[in-house]
Amino acid sequence: MDLRPRVPAGPIEHKWDSHRFELKLVNPANKRRYQVIVVGSGLAGASAAASLAELGYQVSCFCFQDSPRRAHSIAAQGGINAAKNYQNDGDSIWRLFYDTVKGGDFRAREANVYRLAQISNTIIDQCVAQGVPFAREYGGLLANRSFGGAQVSRTFYARGQTGQQLLLGAYQALARQIGLGQVTMYPRTEMLDVVVIDGRARGIVVRDLVTGAIRSHAAHDVVLATGGYSNVYFLSTNAKGCNVTATWRAHKRGALFANPCFTQIHPTCIPMHGPHQSKLTLMSESLRNDGRIWVPRTKRESRAPGSIPKDERDYYLERLYPSFGNLVPRDVASRRAKEMCDAGHSVVPGGHGVYLDFQDAIQRLGRSTIAERYGNLFEMYERITGDDPYQVPMKIYPAPHYTMGGLWVDYNLMSNLEGLHVIGEANFSDHGANRLGASALMQGLADGYFILPYTIGDYLAQARPGPVDTTHPAFGDVERLVRERTDRLLGVRGSKSVDALHRELGSLMWNGCGMSRTKAGLEETIEHIRALRARFWKEISVTGKGEDLNQELEKAGRVADYMEFAELMCVDALQREESCGGHFREEYQTPDGEARRDDERFSHVAAWEWTGEATAPRLHQEPLAFEYVHLAQRSYR
Ligand SMILES: Cc1cc2nc3c(=O)[nH]c(=O)nc-3n(C[C@H](O)[C@H](O)[C@H](O)COP(=O)(O)OP(=O)(O)OC[C@H]3O[C@@H](n4cnc5c(N)ncnc54)[C@H](O)[C@@H]3O)c2cc1C
Repeated sequence: MDLRPRVPAGPIEHKWDSHRFELKLVNPANKRRYQVIVVGSGLAGASAAASLAELGYQVSCFCFQDSPRRAHSIAAQGGINAAKNYQNDGDSIWRLFYDTVKGGDFRAREANVYRLAQISNTIIDQCVAQGVPFAREYGGLLANRSFGGAQVSRTFYARGQTGQQLLLGAYQALARQIGLGQVTMYPRTEMLDVVVIDGRARGIVVRDLVTGAIRSHAAHDVVLATGGYSNVYFLSTNAKGCNVTATWRAHKRGALFANPCFTQIHPTCIPMHGPHQSKLTLMSESLRNDGRIWVPRTKRESRAPGSIPKDERDYYLERLYPSFGNLVPRDVASRRAKEMCDAGHSVVPGGHGVYLDFQDAIQRLGRSTIAERYGNLFEMYERITGDDPYQVPMKIYPAPHYTMGGLWVDYNLMSNLEGLHVIGEANFSDHGANRLGASALMQGLADGYFILPYTIGDYLAQARPGPVDTTHPAFGDVERLVRERTDRLLGVRGSKSVDALHRELGSLMWNGCGMSRTKAGLEETIEHIRALRARFWKEISVTGKGEDLNQELEKAGRVADYMEFAELMCVDALQREESCGGHFREEYQTPDGEARRDDERFSHVAAWEWTGEATAPRLHQEPLAFEYVHLAQRSYR
């Protein structure tokens, strides 16, 4: 298979401009003849569907929630990056580009990252014009705060609800197009397969989650904006519904899955508190602007935090990384927290946790300033734990949060399957082996508002996919397979709940393919996943029936896909014999415990091809070249 990234030639700062000029256009009168399916209505999907409809395409948009406003994007708290340099603190497009390539540990495509940094400023303008209420300074300019991996303040925010406010902006634009009849919205509808005809994506098969009806939809192009797969770990900061189904089904139809083992474990989450928990809660990275992370120097300390004198505390991030302090990137902060807890300094007796302390900031800035900045996050923390963070430090520990891996896409955001574009967290692009905070919203909106609307036209203008409707036999074939699979899930009639087996998978993945990985551990985990998958198909109990609202059935389908996908994650982690970003192989580390890359062998994107149930996936490599940010050992000291 020939992987063609289609990165334009020329100097990096001109690539996107010259590419946009060279892209073929669809004339306005012809746009209405094209039908585009957008699966997903989070920030990536809603912005894409609204923008494509505004251009004149006929759009059908699908989501499994009851409203696009409930997409997981709503949970984003901290902010969105842009290189506006309002703070006059040295930021620029080049610096955002540099920080992102370095933050991703040199495993992202330079040209994509540069384009992202360029577009970042336009996103802020677009959102402000929509009325997104970003925080402002006294003089009226938009305010900024800092996020990990950067020494400038470039994160725009709306208190701790940035994702919600951005989503309301995108949703307004989408609702307008729904009102105009340019977008047909299908809420409570789950895509269960892609239909590929003559090598091109030509539609999807969905299940109506209210009635259980299985139906086909045909189009000239299919866009997947279906988010990330952190819930493979069962416990994560993601919404419970987040899943891998759409991208995994597309993968089984021929789309390559890139870097599936690149997952992000976020350092500031509320620690797990019991075996029956079903969700973990993020405490936004923005808290690290003012909160100081520490553990007691004494192992197994039993004193309350307030009675431990300053010189008996280890502010380990400030000690180890004086230049970045508490704002080191997430992978580094997470690894160090684990190390401290493994060495016996945990502040959660019998568990894992470190302190995130605001006392110094409250003394310096006053309670009201801290309340203004983080009030809703403090309230959320207190409601969950019963502790008041104005009085006692928060307890935090890393948790699965974001997935950098996803379907492989070229510079135009098209997968190797023609007519299948992938945007937002669902694709693999831009973040390499570790995503910097506040960069996911930036990427999702860059993809949806500003990249796909150009590149999709180029595909349609060149490929000129002819008309197709759901009477084509390929739709009937896929519908039959979807029905059979649904019947199979219902027919197992075992005695275990889907959640119980998902929990087992999550614990296997957390231990074997989580914050640190080893060859032996991964090999063993693959064996365990295979055994668990076999048990899944014998032991699950899915109550109810297919022709009805059935949330157990929905869950079972998603977990069945995780049972397959988890193996690919481990296979990918096993073959990448280096450490980079969030992928930490214990065998490959520097003497001071940092990730040791192997640029000779692994400066590439690993893109996996599905070859069947009983055969090993086939690896394709897209080499990565670094012309502008020179390969170097990443250092934040
Ligand atoms: C708690 C939390 C806080 C975060 N805070 C920040 C932050 O401050 N800044 C930042 O940059 N990033 C943040 N992130 C990351 C960021 O929120 C996500 O990466 C981003 O919102 C993903 O957007 P998306 O549009 O790609 O996917 P999503 O918002 O997950 O949307 C996916 C959409 O796809 C639909 N879908 C999925 N599968 C199917 C299917 N099979 N059929 C039909 N529809 C389907 C869903 O219904 C949904 O509409 C945070 C993440 C979490 C978990």
